[in-house]
Amino acid sequence: MDSSQFRDAAKGAVDEIANYYDTLEERPVLPSVAPGYLRPLLPDSTPEEGESWDKIQADIDRVIMPGLTHWQSPKFMAFFPCNSSFPAMLGDMYSGAFNAAAFNWICSPAVTELETVMMDWVAKLIALPKEFLSDGEGGGIIQGTASEVVVTAVVAARERLVRRKLADMPESEERMDKAADIRGRLVALGSEQAHSSTQKAAMIAGTRYRSVPAPKETNFSVTAAALRKTIEECREKGLEPYYFTITIGSTGTCAIDDLQGIAALAKEYPDLWIHVDAAYAGSALVCPEYQHLCPPIAAFDSFNFNLHKWLLVNFDCSAFFIKRRKDLMDTYSITPSYLRNPHSDQGMVTDYRDWQIPLGRRFRSLKVWFVLRSYGVNGLRALIRKHIDLGEYMHDLLKSRPDIFTVVTEPAFGLVTFQINPSPPSSAPTTTEDEAHPRHEACLNGLTSSDTQKANQTTKQVYEKMNAKGEFFLTSTVAGGRYVIRV
Ligand code: PLP
Repeated sequence: MDSSQFRDAAKGAVDEIANYYDTLEERPVLPSVAPGYLRPLLPDSTPEEGESWDKIQADIDRVIMPGLTHWQSPKFMAFFPCNSSFPAMLGDMYSGAFNAAAFNWICSPAVTELETVMMDWVAKLIALPKEFLSDGEGGGIIQGTASEVVVTAVVAARERLVRRKLADMPESEERMDKAADIRGRLVALGSEQAHSSTQKAAMIAGTRYRSVPAPKETNFSVTAAALRKTIEECREKGLEPYYFTITIGSTGTCAIDDLQGIAALAKEYPDLWIHVDAAYAGSALVCPEYQHLCPPIAAFDSFNFNLHKWLLVNFDCSAFFIKRRKDLMDTYSITPSYLRNPHSDQGMVTDYRDWQIPLGRRFRSLKVWFVLRSYGVNGLRALIRKHIDLGEYMHDLLKSRPDIFTVVTEPAFGLVTFQINPSPPSSAPTTTEDEAHPRHEACLNGLTSSDTQKANQTTKQVYEKMNAKGEFFLTSTVAGGRYVIRV
């Protein structure tokens, strides 16, 4: 394909994409294909001769469309959103055009410098404490996903602890043995409600993982007392907690751990790396009404949220902020001669390869720049507020039918979870809506295990029927032993 053929192909593709968005609402959100549907539609191997773009493009409709789940459909209410926007798509297009593996500043100064500036814009937009800005000891870097960020933080936390404990020992066999001993005793912590990425990261780092209770009595949040108890229990067993994920907006119910209390506790455990996982809910911090959550974050080591979840930047774009960038660089900076250059040697520039696990990196800050400029602070706040209002609206609808629904967790960042009430025995007295409300509250507080089982079963049946119908796509979870539907 030469540049003139590209012009035509790209214009055609843009038209098709715009049509796709214009007709999204009419499409069933879930595909109806069976597993393995795609292979029979394709030849067994790469064609011997190149094919025309017309032929390739036609296969989007024939091969791909039937197997797409439409994440941008208004009927998609599963997991968390993965918002997209046209300015972000343009950013990805330019990024593809400039295609660079810009790991060092010299590899493409614009890639590094725009990322640094955009991460400062984003930090200010969400009112992160000044410690996370690049003009001090901190800064931000874009990664692909929250899970990659957690691995990066966990491994850096492990190595920081080893460095601190062996600060006086020169490199030697003996030091390596001692470091291995220390690593063998380390344990990473996360809430019972934390995303599974923390457990996965602990496994990748070769350390243990232990979860901290977050029961329904604390609205599925970790308290400072629960964290302290888990730390002390680990220590009694000769284990060393080195890392904790604190969550703003847990996956199941959007719970917030006790930020204030844990910030105070952090002073007692200076070697514990505390990482804030705000993968979904972090976007809400663009609104001043959520920014009271931000000051305690100054006590923690790192913070992350996904702009690709709720801030209109297309996948992938996960913002990782660090309070002391040296904590990353001391772990990840390894410089063979082929990566050296005068700018890096003089310490004049940021080389993001020293802050992350991979070497190469994409030009992801372009799409952030385009989105922030296209929507502005007010546009982004309006989007978040609209979604939060929709969560309240859903909650009001559920509450208006207490004969059918029991709300399990109140709307948090637009997410509400609920159960379907089992049908009452036919002899049960019927109630009006007004009367039913107090009955429902009493029910919530004093469920017997057989009530819970029945409600769990009914909820699961309804959930499975709804998804099988394909009109909406929802997800479920288990919160405090109760099977709930999440919207
Ligand atoms: N953390 C939380 C709270 C999440 O809800 C999720 C995913 O939904 C993740 C982390 C993992 O996100 P990612 O797909 O970016 O790794």
